[in-house]
Amino acid sequence: IPTKGGILIDLKRMDQIIEGDESNMYAIIEPGVTFGLLKKLLDDEYPQLRYSYPMAPPFTSVVCNALLSGLGNLSYRYGSMSDMVSGLEVVLPTGEITKIGMCAVSPYWLGRHPLPDLMGLFINWQGTTGIVTKMAVNLWPKPPIIKNAIILTMGGPEDIYTSLIFKLVHLQVCDELAGGLFHYSMSRGMLPVDDIKGMITAIVKVDDMENRSFFLTQLTVSANSDKEFKQKFKLINKLVNETNKNEGRQLFLFKTEDLADIGKKIDNFMELPSQIPSLYDLREGGGLTWVGSYVPLNRWLEGCQRGLKVMEKYGWVPGVLHRPMKTGHYSVMRFFIPLNKSDPEELKKARKMCEEIVDIVLDIGGFPYKVPSWAAKKAFERADPNFVGLMKKIKTLLDPNGIMNPGRLIF
Ligand SMILES: Cc1cc2nc3c(=O)[nH]c(=O)nc-3n(C[C@H](O)[C@H](O)[C@H](O)COP(=O)(O)OP(=O)(O)OC[C@H]3O[C@@H](n4cnc5c(N)ncnc54)[C@H](O)[C@@H]3O)c2cc1C
Repeated sequence: IPTKGGILIDLKRMDQIIEGDESNMYAIIEPGVTFGLLKKLLDDEYPQLRYSYPMAPPFTSVVCNALLSGLGNLSYRYGSMSDMVSGLEVVLPTGEITKIGMCAVSPYWLGRHPLPDLMGLFINWQGTTGIVTKMAVNLWPKPPIIKNAIILTMGGPEDIYTSLIFKLVHLQVCDELAGGLFHYSMSRGMLPVDDIKGMITAIVKVDDMENRSFFLTQLTVSANSDKEFKQKFKLINKLVNETNKNEGRQLFLFKTEDLADIGKKIDNFMELPSQIPSLYDLREGGGLTWVGSYVPLNRWLEGCQRGLKVMEKYGWVPGVLHRPMKTGHYSVMRFFIPLNKSDPEELKKARKMCEEIVDIVLDIGGFPYKVPSWAAKKAFERADPNFVGLMKKIKTLLDPNGIMNPGRLIF
């Protein structure tokens, strides 16, 4: 929403999937196409292809999410959703309609190279440089075997982030590698924690699990044969066992297929896109916000520990998500903050807390993704001034009248 006023253009009804190109593995879509629609197209017509789905509700826009460098369940392997954009059609602020990428010179929306890469003029600009009316997104092969496993610890994130995560990303056998620190009470309704509880308490001998948090990491492994899957899982198992032995951790690794009905419930939760109503109403008054950021993988643990302390200071139940991105070149650090939307005091407190968390993100060399206006000012203050200057020049060039989303980012 333009914070300095303006008009809103609702693109919801531009909801056509223009083309699916099976051989070159992309789909050309309009901005109103939702994750739910795209999933249906793939399931019905291209079952051997897949896309990366976020935890967001199925009615959110694929195009908008990619323009904001969102993250989904193939982001560990292939990177953020903006890495998957292979062509654009854009309406410029001055009225011209232009194509960006190979589609500007070819009937195929293959990608960005080898042309000058102008995609960056529209990605993460939050609608301040043009309106995207078509986008091609990469689709990915969907192997016949896709199974989930979980690594769970009642210790903290350090059980995984001290060394195991670096070994796992180097192993490169997962499609998805993500999870977080969940408090037992908050994960009820999302995960079958009451069912898992019996299993865990029998092994770790905790008798107050309801009052504790656990750190859970989902691993999705795909394969073309059972043999390949078994081999991949064996490698993961070996790393987990070594970590337990060498570092004295208590990490539990299990495949969901070994847990019968409980496993099916966990698989259902992991099947995206999905509606998770319990997630939207964790507190009375219903509300959920988060500080999401991309940070260096080797600073994740430090940032997480500092952020959790801030959450505790403000009286929030600590909760943070992680996902190494693009086979570990950087990582998601996302603190999630349920709040009572109808309580102005709580909103004020949450804002202050989020500001402190953004400082931590910046301190450890990260940056908030989908950066909201209130955080943009603070975040860009630390940027290279010549970078900020260049952004302003580009903005003026593309939008000489300053009509596009005034007030967003630093404009
Ligand atoms: C419960 C929940 C969980 C979520 N989990 C995830 C997650 O795991 N991963 C993830 O990536 N996201 C997640 N999301 C966010 C979601 O996927 C979308 O990224 C988000 O909803 C985008 O919609 P918006 O309403 O924020 O966008 P808007 O506010 O409509 O748009 C955001 C910005 O993009 C600009 N914009 C929009 N459309 C265009 C266009 N066509 N051309 C140019 N500029 C445009 C707008 O001007 C605006 O500045 C989650 C959301 C919810 C509610």
